Amino acid sequence: MDLGIKGKRGLVCAASKGLGRGCAEALAEAGVNLVINSRTEADITRTAQEIAAEYGVDVTPVAADITTDEGRSKVLAAVGEADILVSNAGGPPPGQWTDWNRDDFIKAIDSNMLSAIALMQALVPGMMQRGWGRVVNITSQSVRSPIPVLGLSNTARAGLTGFVAGMSRQVASQGVCVNNILPGIHATDRADGLDRGVAQQQGISMEEARKQREAGIPANTYGTAEDFGATCAFLCSQHARFIIGQNILLDGGAFNATM
Ligand code: NAP
Repeated sequence: MDLGIKGKRGLVCAASKGLGRGCAEALAEAGVNLVINSRTEADITRTAQEIAAEYGVDVTPVAADITTDEGRSKVLAAVGEADILVSNAGGPPPGQWTDWNRDDFIKAIDSNMLSAIALMQALVPGMMQRGWGRVVNITSQSVRSPIPVLGLSNTARAGLTGFVAGMSRQVASQGVCVNNILPGIHATDRADGLDRGVAQQQGISMEEARKQREAGIPANTYGTAEDFGATCAFLCSQHARFIIGQNILLDGGAFNATM
């Protein structure tokens, strides 16, 4: 399917690997020129070179922490105007509900709520002026179904979801579609880290921990960054112009509900 976005300009954050990279690759395949970001210079530079070589689009790497004002300024200076924004950042650490103090909550909210809002505030006005834009925020299945050990994530991402629910409807008439994708378990380093935690806690191997977590997914497998990227690229396509303020759950059926 032609996504109709060849030649558009996109920013994908936290994209040297994992879900962010999956989104960057799918957008590059559709002909989108990209600025991609993550903190480790060598990794983001290598990823940019690989994507540019594979898909023949311009890919500019920016090494910066997207959760800080300084990092976002650096990224936004490299982007200028963008037609497409994919917001993403690392997830907060696990723990018990009694573990976290105010500083921990502020850090999680900065990372997984306010940084996405600041990026939208910087880039969406230009999209509205030009009459076309697409935003995808990478959140989590924890927005629909809380993951008890990820209380910081449950909290911060719920805040972003509430903001997007209202804001997406304020910008839609100007041709800007803002949506969230909620990843269930996908095979990335982040998922490996969570498997490792389960393995250590229960004294089992990583493979057993993964099998155990896969058993809770009707599709009986983890998703991949490629699956995830394809959905992101579709939401950024011309075909998605009537999809506004939605929370698209990619979890292999793990959330058990009729609707
Ligand atoms: P991942 O494989 O660990 O990749 C994380 C990427 O983000 C890396 O490129 C990393 O590079 C970059 N990054 C991390 N913190 C950053 C920051 N502050 N500024 C800029 N770049 C940063 O993780 P993932 O699995 O793709 O997860 C992406 C997001 O989806 C996370 O928020 C995660 O919690 C959420 N999620 C993932 C899953 C899953 O199963 N994979 C499920 C639900 C939610 P550097 O370290 O070099 O910066």
